[in-house]
Formats: sequence, C-alpha cells, structure tokens
Amino acid sequence: MPRPRRRSYHASVTSDCLFCRIVAGEIPATIVRETETTLAFRDINPKAPVHVLVIPKEHHADVATLGRDDPALAGQVLATAAEVAEAEGLVTDGFRLMFNTGPYGGQEVFHVHAHLLGGAPLGPMLA
Ligand code: ADP
Repeated sequence: MPRPRRRSYHASVTSDCLFCRIVAGEIPATIVRETETTLAFRDINPKAPVHVLVIPKEHHADVATLGRDDPALAGQVLATAAEVAEAEGLVTDGFRLMFNTGPYGGQEVFHVHAHLLGGAPLGPMLA
C-alpha cells in the first residue's frame, strides 16, 4: 500500500495567489533568505532603502488566520524577519516590521506577509 505523501507547502500552493506563485518559482523575485518554511524577497515597489517581504511558504491569508491556525509558523516568519534585519544591517538603527491586514489595514495581497522596512528614519506610522 502506498505511503501517504508527506504534507508539504506545495500542497497549499494556490495558483491564483501571487506569492504562492513566487514560492513555486513561477514568478521571479529577488530572494534574500529561504528556509524550509519561509521565504524573504525584496518588495518590487520599495518604500524604504530596505524593503523585504517575509512570508510563510504555506498559504495563509493574513496574520490573524496564521496566528490562529499555526502559531509556530508565525514564529518562524518572525525569526526569518529578524535574520534578514540582521543580515541587512538594520538592527543597530532599528527597523519597522508590519503586517497589513484586511481592507482597513491596506492589505492588497492575501498571502500573509511581513513588511520589513529600514535603512533610513521612517517617521511616524500614521500621518
Ligand atoms: P500594500 O500594497 O498596500 O502595501 P500589501 O500589504 O498587501 O499592500 O503589500 C503587498 C506588497 O507586495 C506591496 O508592497 C507590493 O509592492 C508588493 N508586491 C507586489 N507584487 C510583487 C512582486 N511580484 N514581487 C515583490 N513584491 C511585490
């Protein structure tokens, strides 16, 4: 009897999700870090000298559902963000890490992603 396939992030790749397609290698991205469960790549429209998006490879719509459904994976996203911040030289002067969530939060891509911003003073969050 065939063994069941090991569950992998490929099982959850959504063909109409932009970031799932980046995970699958179907859309190019400038990848700065990759772990078994996470991917970090440069934002295509950077809002700061350093602007990296950190995502779980597995599809989760937003940070609320990710935190509820897989808090360990949420922690892995944070760990990858911290490693990228260190590698990009952002830790001494500081940086911003944010999850836009839902329509009021300005989320446009519904595959959870942390925006890691730094490299210059960013000013207050809300103007
Ligand atoms: P917002 O556009 O309001 O920041 P999100 O929080 O959903 O909304 O962020 C989506 C981010 O994805 C944007 O910063 C956008 O520039 C970025 N983005 C869109 N397409 C790509 C791509 N192909 N590669 C890298 N970043 C991308």
